[in-house]
Amino acid sequence: MALLSLNNVEVVYDSVFLAVKGVSIEVPEGGLVALLGANGAGKSTVLKSISGLLKAERGNVSRGQILFQGQDVLAMDPPERVRHGLVHVLEGRRVFEHLTPQENLLAATSMHSDRAEVKRLSEEMFTLFPRLAQRAGAKAGYLSGGEQQMLAIARALMTKPKLILLDEPSLGLAPFLVDEIFDIIRRINTQSGTGILLVEQNAIAALDVAHSAYLIEQGRIVMSGTAEALKANPDIQQAYLGGTSQVDYHAVKHYRRRKRWLA
Ligand code: ATP
Repeated sequence: MALLSLNNVEVVYDSVFLAVKGVSIEVPEGGLVALLGANGAGKSTVLKSISGLLKAERGNVSRGQILFQGQDVLAMDPPERVRHGLVHVLEGRRVFEHLTPQENLLAATSMHSDRAEVKRLSEEMFTLFPRLAQRAGAKAGYLSGGEQQMLAIARALMTKPKLILLDEPSLGLAPFLVDEIFDIIRRINTQSGTGILLVEQNAIAALDVAHSAYLIEQGRIVMSGTAEALKANPDIQQAYLGGTSQVDYHAVKHYRRRKRWLA
């Protein structure tokens, strides 16, 4: 059984705008799956449909099914989804700016959490993210972009998730930090077997860590396969990996035609 499966999911905003059109995605147990696509393709909307954060944006899953470990996610409210092990790290590294990293980590736990366990978990986070340990006394608002991203991921890990939905962790970061963040993502996945659904525009970095990937365009999945297969695909190389050759407009036309066929 897959850890997560989306079957033919449709999302509508404001009861009129169809942003996600019949999307089917699977994340296996312990899988690291990338969802790639350009601006506005529907990546964040897919993640919000899984974590349940569409309502605040007047969005709604109007069709399809989302199963997490075989259970119907759409019947659960967002906190219940977190309790089941589904956590969403939103785009834009939202941390509590006036709190320290330690306080941010504590904010992810409930009043009823076992104190010794919370202490153990936060120590584990400072081992996994030594940069955060160095900045332990600073307010999170004064951390660098990369450090804030690490804090957002660490805060999600405090909930002991089985699956992390990661939205654009590399956005706006310097290349060396992108490497560091992706290295951490790989480690979280391999060391604890936590499943990861990674949304990225940085296809090169994502395909380097992911096992498999889906490509979404205008709300539809137009391609999927192993990371290796997608990396080798000429259309992906041209459109998403900054293909080295000059743009061949004849081939682009073919790609468009193929895309229409795929859609
Ligand atoms: P980006 O990489 O820019 O975040 P994305 O692939 O994550 O893009 P989404 O944010 O999911 O794309 O947006 C998909 C489509 O849905 C876009 O056309 C967007 O304008 C629209 N959309 C997103 N949020 C809303 C909303 N709250 N209300 C109405 N339309 C929305």
